[in-house]
Amino acid sequence: MSEPFDPTRYDAFVFDLDGTVWLGPDHPIPGALEFVDACRERGASVAFATNAIIHAPATLSAQLQHLGLARPDEPVVTSGTVVIETLRAEGVELIAGVMPDQLAEMLIQADIEVVSPNDVSVDDFGSVGTERALVLAASRGATIGSIERLGRLAAAGHRIYISSKDPGFPVAGGIEPGGGVLFAALTAMYDVDATILGKPSPAYAAVVANAVGGRDRRILMCGDSQRADIGIAAELGVDSVLLTGHSILPISADLPAPTYIAPTLADAPRRHHPEG
Ligand SMILES: [Mg+2]
Repeated sequence: MSEPFDPTRYDAFVFDLDGTVWLGPDHPIPGALEFVDACRERGASVAFATNAIIHAPATLSAQLQHLGLARPDEPVVTSGTVVIETLRAEGVELIAGVMPDQLAEMLIQADIEVVSPNDVSVDDFGSVGTERALVLAASRGATIGSIERLGRLAAAGHRIYISSKDPGFPVAGGIEPGGGVLFAALTAMYDVDATILGKPSPAYAAVVANAVGGRDRRILMCGDSQRADIGIAAELGVDSVLLTGHSILPISADLPAPTYIAPTLADAPRRHHPEG
């Protein structure tokens, strides 16, 4: 019983970015534009949701609009969005973080002070409390030294938030290191636990649900990461398409199963049967 893919069953489409609609803003993936346009023509709403954290949502929106992929009013959620909303809600005032400059700027704009773990000792950072926390976010500029310094603060008991456990994001010619590799480096040195705020976290799911008008919309999540994108679909309890054409990992039986699979958005999604 192989029910064919029927896009009219959905009234909100959420698209991952890297490996789904583009391999970075200079490399749109063929077929994505036509697929997204067809969703709009049927009257469905469109949103974008990425674990990438290097750019602010407004910057990504401008880049997507430049390619014709997004309209100005369509939401773009990043794990940075979720980091800031979460820290604000929890009353955090001071962050020691390893993160891209763009996220640090967004935090400062949200009235949260940001220091580098390289510049602060455990004693200087202050006692463990709700107003202080740590952030480890995917950043090409991260160094083993800065991750180790962050680990000292985490080992002292400060809460640590990470952007994602993704190993990386496919970009043209290679991989942008994700939060997962940085966290793997941290936990190779220190026995600490972290709260993940990127896809597929409950905090991220709440922001996505809000962006498309609520959890009772008939949502289809489209993405290339089984852990992040199919995981967030599972968290939301909605259908998903796993795009395998640019994915960097094979399909795993240990992660949530997608509803459909397709190489890219240019291809007709096929029902996924986990048992083969
Ligand atoms: Mg992706």
